[in-house]
Order: sequence, then structure tokens, then C-alpha cells
Amino acid sequence: MTDRSQLLSALADVVGGRYVLTSNEDVAPYATDWKRSSTGVPACVVRPASTSEVAGVVRHCRELGFTIVPQGGNSGLAAGAIPDSSAGQVVLSLNRMRAIRSLDPVGMTIEVEAGAILQTVRENASEVGRMLPIAIAAEGSATIGGVIATNAGGLNVLRYGMTRDLTLGLEVVLADGSVASGLRHLRKDNAGYDWKQWFIGSEGTLGIVTAAVMRLVTVPRHSVTTLLSVTNLDAAISLFELTQQDIGEALSAFELISAQSIDLIERYAQLKSPIAAGEWFILLEATSSLSGLRDAAEAVLAAGFEIGWVVDGVVAESDMQARQIWALREHVTEAEARRGSSLKHDISVPLTRMGAFLADAEAALETVAPGAGLNLFGHLGDGNLHYNVLLEPDHDQQAINRVVHDVVVKHGGSISAEHGLGQYRVDEWLRVAPDADLRLASTLKTALDPDGLLNPGKILPSKLSHSKAIGETI
Ligand SMILES: Cc1cc2nc3c(=O)[nH]c(=O)nc-3n(C[C@H](O)[C@H](O)[C@H](O)COP(=O)(O)OP(=O)(O)OC[C@H]3O[C@@H](n4cnc5c(N)ncnc54)[C@H](O)[C@@H]3O)c2cc1C
Repeated sequence: MTDRSQLLSALADVVGGRYVLTSNEDVAPYATDWKRSSTGVPACVVRPASTSEVAGVVRHCRELGFTIVPQGGNSGLAAGAIPDSSAGQVVLSLNRMRAIRSLDPVGMTIEVEAGAILQTVRENASEVGRMLPIAIAAEGSATIGGVIATNAGGLNVLRYGMTRDLTLGLEVVLADGSVASGLRHLRKDNAGYDWKQWFIGSEGTLGIVTAAVMRLVTVPRHSVTTLLSVTNLDAAISLFELTQQDIGEALSAFELISAQSIDLIERYAQLKSPIAAGEWFILLEATSSLSGLRDAAEAVLAAGFEIGWVVDGVVAESDMQARQIWALREHVTEAEARRGSSLKHDISVPLTRMGAFLADAEAALETVAPGAGLNLFGHLGDGNLHYNVLLEPDHDQQAINRVVHDVVVKHGGSISAEHGLGQYRVDEWLRVAPDADLRLASTLKTALDPDGLLNPGKILPSKLSHSKAIGETI
């Protein structure tokens, strides 16, 4: 019996034969990422139905020398859930573990299995007037486990924080096959290390999340949505400062869209901006249980006009108009994809450095890709910009990545604000990360997964090259 046939038979004993997928047709959807830019060849895809089955799968893979790639909804943007092409990695899909275990509207918590779809969890919460404020366009595919493993951000980070801020408890299967149970429904718990934090944003490299307790918030009764165009980036940042002062905690989104992005949307997504262009557009949304938001938004708009920051603006009169404004923001990526290929940089810099970053990045880009088109948009309130370069056939992608990331680092920023490192950004992270970050990452990985069983090659290089790369870098 070969190692692989031994593995298939052992996994079938744990989960049942029909949940061990091996044919090319069956494994195909699990082997290519959402962007269709990375395809692997797994030993098989296994679909356990419970935490104990996940633990059984981990133990067999360990014994037989196969590594594991955890996968949720496969909507990640860094190919973190895709195996390599060695046929030696098992894709462990959580997509049969979708139960909503409990919902507490008073304590405002929800306990769910890792494979639960984000949209379903949000719908369950909204049925009792509560909300899980993780708003990402992939909510129909992304799972709670994936959202936690990538520490997903999205449109409401400004108001409610990242997934990390909304996770109260975790259940995790560790690399030795044991289960760490920490499904606490507590907002305060300072008894020892907060170990769940080690797994949030760890992209499946430290443990397999099997269930979670998430914090809910109340559904705001009132909202206002505004689209503005502004003269320049300084005006956008000044307006953000004013909005924070005057609308404060009700501010739930402050999105930046460049005039080039609006141009792409109008050309490739057949949508039209309802206002005259400035250098930048701002989508501002405020939500609250209390009324009076519209007056507050109009006052900010009027002040912006008077000072000369705002070129044009509209406050949505209805839900439908609000949706039309949001549609502009939501179609930026699609319009970019329809134009052709692009090189994405999901970066963040301190807000006060954003202007200097953009000027330096433009100058640096000119040295390697003169005249390159850009699609710039993002969550300005979080200092998070999608710095996407519209590719032409003669562009050197590695050179572009390097110059953009060097400028990010110069301004104290991050080369991955939301999407993680997956397999796409490993080399660049090794190149620019501070020594202390690499040393601590390596220490944690070695402590929790000494044999490199879990998602090798993601975040850190795979085990074979691991010690060499880290040794050389540190
Ligand atoms: C259209 C679109 C819009 C998006 N918008 C945003 C956005 O605004 N903000 C944002 O942050 N992201 C965004 N994303 C990225 C993506 O949706 C998130 O990263 C999401 O959290 C991934 O969830 P998933 O279940 O699909 O995870 P997968 O893609 O399956 O996996 C992602 C990573 O998590 C690991 N993983 C998955 N499940 C588990 C588990 N149970 N235990 C341990 N590790 C696990 C995988 O190994 C992989 O490394 C977007 C993606 C798309 C396609």
C-alpha cells in the first residue's frame, strides 16, 4: 500500500469515504484560488463534519507525513488556502461544519462552527436585531473560520474594528491533534495569556479553527450616506478630521475613491457618478440608534463647501439612492478586472503620511513603469489604500512590487493591511519585515507546529527552506 492510499483509507475511516475527494473534477474547486492565479495539486480534499473528525484527520496526516491546508470559503485574496503542486498536501475543508450553535441577544454573542458562511451568521443575528459588523463583498462565500484566520477587515472597521476586535472565544485543533477549547462568551478575561489572539490572522499556519464566539452589536436604526468629491488628498483628510469631530462614533465608513477609479467604473461597469468630479471622491456613511444624522452630514458638507475642500456632493434621499452610491464603491474591483490585469497592493500607512506616501510612490513607480495607470481606492479612515497598478505587457511586476513596498516601509506602513500574506507576499514580507517580527513569528510557529504540518509555505517559507530563509534573514 502506498502512503497515499494508506492516507485515503485512514481518512475515510474518520470522515466516511464520500467525504474524501480525489477525482480531478471533485478537487478542482478547492485547488484554484478566487483570483484564478494559483492552482495546486492536493493529495486529496477531506471534509470533516465535527471537531473530533478534524482532530482525527490531523493525527493521521501527521503520522503518514502529509501536510494540511485548511480551507473555508476559498475567497481569500492571497492564495493562502491553496495547496502546492507536490500532491503531498491535504486540503481540509470546513464546509460541512456550518452550525449556528447559540445566539444570545442579551449578552450579544453568537457561537458558530468555523464553516458557517459569514452572510448566514449575519442574517441569523439580524433576525434578533443584532449585527455581526464584518462587511466584506465576499460575505456569501467567506466563512467564519476564514474570516478569523485572515483577521478580515472590510467597510466597517472604522467603527467596529477588525475581526480580532469582534472575536471573544475560539476552539482550535492544534498540530498535535489535540483540541484547545476556549469558547468563552466573555468581554473581560485577563486570566493568563489571551491565546486566541495567536490564531486570529495566522492564516491556518498555527491551528485549525473549528468554532468561534463572536461579539454582536445592535442594528443601528438610522443611517445617512453621502458622496462627495474633493479638490485633493489634503482636503479629504481634513474633511475626515472634521467628520470625526462632528459625527464622531456614528461614523461607520469613510471610503476614498480616486477620480481614475470612477473613470474605470463609468467605462467598464456602466455606472455613473451623480456628482461632478474632484481629484478624489469620498463615500461617507454614518449610522446610529439616535436620529439627527442627516442634519449632521449636511452640516459637514456645507462646512466643506465653505472652506473650499468640497467640489460637489449629494446626500442620499432614499435607501435606493444610498445603494446606488454604494454600488460605485462596490464595482471598483470588477471594473479594474474588466479593463485587464493589474498588480494589487493592499497597503496601509499612518493617515498623516498618506500624502507623502502617494507622492513618493508615484515618483518610484515612474522609475520602473513610466506612465503606468493606477486604480487607487480604499478605507481612508483606516489608512488603508488599495494601490493597484494597471499592468501593461512590458511591466516588470517584481520591480513594481519592490518599489511600492519600499515606499510603504519608508512611511511606517504595512505591505498587507487586510488580505494577509498567504503565498503571494511571503518573499516580500521576508525582504522588508523587521527582524523582531520574523524572529517572533518563527518562535511561535516552532512552538505550536514544530514539524511544519499546518499550511507550510504560507506566511513563512515551507519547512525545508524555513530555517535557511529565517537564518539568512535574521
Ligand atoms: C470580492 C471580495 C471582496 C473581499 N473584501 C475583503 C475586505 O473588504 N476585507 C478583507 O479583509 N478581506 C476581503 N476579502 C478577502 C476574503 O474574503 C477574506 O480574506 C475572508 O476572510 C476569507 O474567508 P474564507 O472562508 O473564504 O477563507 P479561505 O479563502 O478559505 O482561507 C483564507 C486563509 O484562512 C485559512 N483558513 C480558512 N479557514 C480556516 C480555519 N477554519 N482554520 C484555520 N485557518 C483557516 C486558509 O488556510 C487561508 O490561509 C475579499 C474577497 C473577495 C473575493
